[in-house]
Amino acid sequence: MMEREAVGRAFRERYGRAARIFRAPGRVNLIGEHTDYNGGFVLPMAIERETVVAAAPRADRTVRAYSAGLNEELSFDLDHPNPPRRGVWLEYVEGVARALESRGLKLSGADLLIDSDVPAGAGLSSSAALEISVGLALARVNGQEVDGVTLALAGQQAEHTYVGTLCGIMDQFVAALAKERHALLIDCRSLEAEPVPLDTTSAAFVVSDTRVKHELSSSEYNVRRAECARGVELLRERLPGITQLRDVSVADFQKHSGVLPDPILRRCRHIVTENERTLGAARALRAGDLAEMGRLMYESHYSLRDDYEVSSPELDVLVEIARGVPGVLGARMTGGGFGGSTVSLVRREALADFERALSEGYERETGRRPAILVSEAGAGAAEVMMSDE
Ligand code: ADP
Ligand code: MG
Repeated sequence: MMEREAVGRAFRERYGRAARIFRAPGRVNLIGEHTDYNGGFVLPMAIERETVVAAAPRADRTVRAYSAGLNEELSFDLDHPNPPRRGVWLEYVEGVARALESRGLKLSGADLLIDSDVPAGAGLSSSAALEISVGLALARVNGQEVDGVTLALAGQQAEHTYVGTLCGIMDQFVAALAKERHALLIDCRSLEAEPVPLDTTSAAFVVSDTRVKHELSSSEYNVRRAECARGVELLRERLPGITQLRDVSVADFQKHSGVLPDPILRRCRHIVTENERTLGAARALRAGDLAEMGRLMYESHYSLRDDYEVSSPELDVLVEIARGVPGVLGARMTGGGFGGSTVSLVRREALADFERALSEGYERETGRRPAILVSEAGAGAAEVMMSDE
């Protein structure tokens, strides 16, 4: 990964002119998993890993994008759409450009140079970091402002229409709107968000990447979405007012879950209880109650493992090793599941022991080494102001 300044220099070398620099972060979700597309609550924070985009406008309607990580340049014409779902990374760029135009922003062409230290496919949402940094760059070099929620919706639209991932709004929302030293409690229905201060003086959030990505993830994701929708249909016989699982309280669920066959019942139970855990987690963090936060993280993991069935053996191994280390307050899988990463809440004085136990234990059980990242909560997307070269 280049320094931000170096991304600007690389742009000048490649395209022979000056650029403006934009960035958007990866994220880790602390709690609230698979709740976003059910209209519920999520509690992610941005991490100190980012995608940086150097950008300058063009007189024509061509967008050229060079990815330094992949050492590949691809381009498209804003007037002649490529067919979607070809499985190329340019779809994230083209998708967000088209989504912004469909929302009324008039874009010119642009040259883009992209560099990132958000690992792809590790559950840290490199795709949202890419969409949001590129979307902000395309708007701004055209002299247009775009608010964070619109930018997030455009990023999500890119995934839905171009990439073919029916994701919720969490990743794009937090990449666009995160606040330093805060998690963001997002109401995924109203699209309102509250920053929740994170006091990490005594404990830190640690991301551990299994380095395994199972092929199941996207097909099973769509199956879970359908199971939740079916659950709403069945529960509506008893609770006619509901439109999403978000509307179902734990008490109502317990009263009426008898109408649900297995596995729909367990899928819905995860969502309903996870919403309650997420609100509880935000309260615990506000109150500085890290022990309660950690307890909710473990509960979330077991619910994802047993009820929602989106964990993997590697994720379970990481959580169980973490659980055995004194000073670890909580751990859970994070992101969509079937591989990717866990997030753990670890007392500062236990960090070294934790990293050692995790590396050794995980290698012993799986033959792989986990990638471990301790990160403070970073800021959302922004233009990077450069001192004069
Ligand atoms: P995640 O968002 O969890 O990292 P995804 O599968 O949603 O995983 O997104 C990863 C994809 O995003 C990559 O396969 C690639 O197509 C695209 N991508 C991410 N970062 C970059 C980058 N720096 N350059 C080009 N493409 C990227
Ligand atoms: Mg993604």
